Amino acid sequence: MRIETATAPGTPGAPNEDFVAVALPAGGHGGALVLLDGVTPPPDNGNCVHSVPWFTARLGGALLELSVSRPDITLADCLSIAIAGTADAHRGTCELSHPLTPQATVVAVRWGADELEHLVLSDSVLLVEGADGSVTAVLDDRIDRLRAAGRRVAPLRNLPGGFFTAAADPAVAAKAVTGRVPVASVRSFAALSDGAARGVEVFGTDDWASTLALLHKAGPERLLTRVRDQESADPLGADVPRGKPFDDATAVLVAL
Ligand SMILES: [Zn+2]
Repeated sequence: MRIETATAPGTPGAPNEDFVAVALPAGGHGGALVLLDGVTPPPDNGNCVHSVPWFTARLGGALLELSVSRPDITLADCLSIAIAGTADAHRGTCELSHPLTPQATVVAVRWGADELEHLVLSDSVLLVEGADGSVTAVLDDRIDRLRAAGRRVAPLRNLPGGFFTAAADPAVAAKAVTGRVPVASVRSFAALSDGAARGVEVFGTDDWASTLALLHKAGPERLLTRVRDQESADPLGADVPRGKPFDDATAVLVAL
């Protein structure tokens, strides 16, 4: 097994709001991967006194721990418990019902001797390479479908008919895109925060298969450099409009 990771803040020196962790439990045949992309809050976010890295470290750490310590429950249930525990850690000081209370997108993968289980919530992506070399992108495309329908996305955060992030409501875990496949049918997989997926989703220069091929051939750091070069060529987002001219970017490749 080979695991490679790279991460970079959108702005050098600024806090990176992505979180990534991989666990390979002793004695087991498999492991677990967690990638979160923290949502940058506006100044008014319910008087939360905590930073995005504070939130993602707690949520991501709890989710990774549960993923390996509780093989008896699904990843969605692990996420639900992790969200509840993280909310409890700041319920006493912060207004958690605010729509922009700290929150994150989630990719989680857990694999063992027989199965690979995955979970995707909001706009990070999981790429799965089959034994035949085919590449499948596992996406929670709610935001894309809302935009395609001409809807303003921001007011629909964590509301019925809208899109969902891991914030303070454990019930959101049931909205995640989940699945299981035989581990023998998977050659490799990769998790990308949306900042690392911009070659496909923003600039339109790449596809998922070429992205995974680049990860295999040159590694995650090269993918991040490629995205950063594309952003730097249009530093204000004049040619290719996008929410942030530069975004935190993280990529993890697991070759089984
Ligand atoms: Zn807080």
